[in-house]
Amino acid sequence: MEIKNYYRAKTLEDAYLKLNEHSSNIIAGGGAWLKMSTSDHETMVDLSGLSLNQIDERKDSIEIGSLVTLRDFETNPSIKALGKGYISEAAGSVMGVGFRNVASIGGSIIGKFPFSDLITPLLTLNIKLKFYPEGEMTLEEYIKSKGRLSSILTHIIIEKENGKGYFKKVGNTVLDFSILNIAIYHGIHGYRIALGSRPGVGTLAHEAMDYLNQLKTVSDSDINQAVELVLNHIRFGGNEAAEESYRRELAKVYVARGLKEVTV
Ligand SMILES: Cc1cc2nc3c(=O)[nH]c(=O)nc-3n(C[C@H](O)[C@H](O)[C@H](O)COP(=O)(O)OP(=O)(O)OC[C@H]3O[C@@H](n4cnc5c(N)ncnc54)[C@H](O)[C@@H]3O)c2cc1C
Repeated sequence: MEIKNYYRAKTLEDAYLKLNEHSSNIIAGGGAWLKMSTSDHETMVDLSGLSLNQIDERKDSIEIGSLVTLRDFETNPSIKALGKGYISEAAGSVMGVGFRNVASIGGSIIGKFPFSDLITPLLTLNIKLKFYPEGEMTLEEYIKSKGRLSSILTHIIIEKENGKGYFKKVGNTVLDFSILNIAIYHGIHGYRIALGSRPGVGTLAHEAMDYLNQLKTVSDSDINQAVELVLNHIRFGGNEAAEESYRRELAKVYVARGLKEVTV
């Protein structure tokens, strides 16, 4: 990768104008992914002077700056409290501490990485992404959006909720990319189930969620029915890491296990 110019933005507007001056200009998050890129860029826009590295807990929400590192995110007490720790656990499953001190939460979301161990669990919470200048959209809307991003992710806003979460990453080794990751949350808004690295990017299992959320109590046979709905409606595939049939077997086991764990 070759970058011709480095630019440290003074304001968000300044960063936005610089980003859109040339079609190959890019924003720098932690730079861990960009460092591996082979494409060339006219200008790299650095947001580090814009105070986007803070986590603020409000009465009903947690506001996370896009430059917060994965390690600061993982170890923050407000994040640790979410769903009894499953979000922290997921963040802590990415590479080693040294790496997580560099990679940012913003870069982890913007990349829409199919293997992401962050996107999958975050999809199970009520999350808004705040962009400059456009405003807010849900994480699910962003994942489904198409085209080059010409705006800047400034914050991730998580609605606080009392509930229990479950996260499972299946990989060949601890430091490897996921073969499949699964996250489930059970809170006042009901159940939310997400699967990622299918090998496609994280997605919500709406049919299974809708089924569980119209029930007053959830029995073992309801859990089996929800698992069937996941297998029938979520698209799994094969790649060099695993065959489709293996991913389906993993989903069958871990969605059932996760649902049992969060059902109280
Ligand atoms: C070797 C390696 C192994 C990894 N393993 C895993 C893993 O097992 N599990 C996992 O979940 N992830 C893994 N990742 C991904 C990693 O966790 C980060 O998601 C990734 O490095 C991106 O974060 P970053 O801060 O480095 O982003 P950068 O590399 O800085 O940026 C990534 C992209 O996002 C854009 N961007 C960054 N910030 C913003 C912003 N605020 N607004 C708009 N655009 C922005 C950049 O322009 C770029 O296009 C791995 C990455 C690497 C390099």
